[in-house]
Amino acid sequence: MDYLPLHFEVTGRQVLVVGGGEIAQRKVDLLLKAGAHIRLVAPEVSDTLRDLLDSSSHTIIQNRFESSHIDGCVLVVAATSDMAVNEAVSSLCQQHAVPVNVVDAPALCTVTFPAIIDRHPLIISVGSGGGSPVLVRTLREKIEALVPSHFGRLAGYLKDRRDRLKKALPDIDTRRRHTEEFLDSPGAELAMQGKQTEADDYLFSEAESHVGEVYLVGAGPGDPDLLTLKALQLMQKADVILYDNLVSPAVLDRARRDARKEFVGKRSGYKSTSQEDINDLLVRLAKEGHRVLRLKGGDPFVFGRGGEEIIRLVEEEIPFQVIPGITAATGCAAYAGIPLTHRELSQSVKFVTGHPKNGKVELSWHEYTHANETVVFYMGLGGLSTICQQMVKHGRAASTPVAIISKGTTPEQQVLKGTLETMPGLVARTQIQSPTLIIVGEVVNFAEHAAAEN
Ligand code: SAH
Repeated sequence: MDYLPLHFEVTGRQVLVVGGGEIAQRKVDLLLKAGAHIRLVAPEVSDTLRDLLDSSSHTIIQNRFESSHIDGCVLVVAATSDMAVNEAVSSLCQQHAVPVNVVDAPALCTVTFPAIIDRHPLIISVGSGGGSPVLVRTLREKIEALVPSHFGRLAGYLKDRRDRLKKALPDIDTRRRHTEEFLDSPGAELAMQGKQTEADDYLFSEAESHVGEVYLVGAGPGDPDLLTLKALQLMQKADVILYDNLVSPAVLDRARRDARKEFVGKRSGYKSTSQEDINDLLVRLAKEGHRVLRLKGGDPFVFGRGGEEIIRLVEEEIPFQVIPGITAATGCAAYAGIPLTHRELSQSVKFVTGHPKNGKVELSWHEYTHANETVVFYMGLGGLSTICQQMVKHGRAASTPVAIISKGTTPEQQVLKGTLETMPGLVARTQIQSPTLIIVGEVVNFAEHAAAEN
């Protein structure tokens, strides 16, 4: 380890910045955020810097750098384009044992600025000792995505309660273990949501007596990269995951390794779990204190029966969150290159269930026959012939384009294109695998329209 990472308190202390241009300004921005009092030295100072430092806490010395300028400073930053000045500042600081940073010259630095993930009051810093700022930035972006934006709230919450917790649990080891348990409990999630009183129940009373929480999470249509950040975060947190058959193995792979995973979907050859049984299971597991993640294909509120599950949770007073997902229609359309709406071709889009009941698809067909509308059928493969016949019978042109997308967004995605007239025959001749989505409308041939215009 070449560098010792420290978090440096500069609030109200004097920091010298040598340089009056844009690079100096970036450092000044950061130092001001940390509350430093700035002494800026440069023969020429930009107007922006003058505005930034327009307060009695700061001084601007419009002159060349002199050794006396470092007096009383806890940190020095050299940000000039003149290498000779940068070197002079660096060697002077090193003689006087004042920490010095020279922008873009690691060899002249005794301290470097790390990349920062700011979740005030929580700060994560990443550094390579000036070795590769690009690598550091890439890593920073990854961490940004991983650390929930409300983590700062959690840190602030714990900071505010530190003294109270110290009194309640004077022994440091007990307190540490208790805090670890709290961070793993639904209380942490509540604190992040700003529900402090509810979170206090977890922090200040015994962990065992608590009900857990249910996360109703949309898993998207199949490609795990389409999961939301929130879904990923909760998948890392859950104790039990209840998933159905639309959840792809690749998505499930992103869940916490040691979470218990239970299949509660329908699969041919197996007895399917009824909705009532799933509701009961959610309630029972949550009451046992587990964090239960109900993972559903697409979006939980689009043909997902999410509503029925949350009604039970409300009745049983079990805390829950609903996390939206990318629904099959938007996911499949995007991956198949079909815009669901288009200024000229389609001004509205309908999501419709094509699920046959007692062998029949019963819909108010006249509602789906406007020429300038896209209609997306979920669960429609079994009723495809009826759908195509009825749409034509009620006035939609037989030549209207239709796409069937199978296993959309996964590596096995297949797109079959035809018309209301030809599609049933095409499907009968093709081995097409569920799940499938049917898109009806001129937008299906958008690519051809676009080519014709050009
Ligand atoms: N809640 C889900 C829909 C559940 S209904 C969502 O928002 O997407 C199940 C239907 O969704 C399937 O019959 C099929 O029509 C569609 N579907 C889900 N995932 C799909 C995929 N990857 N490719 C094609 N269709 C899909």
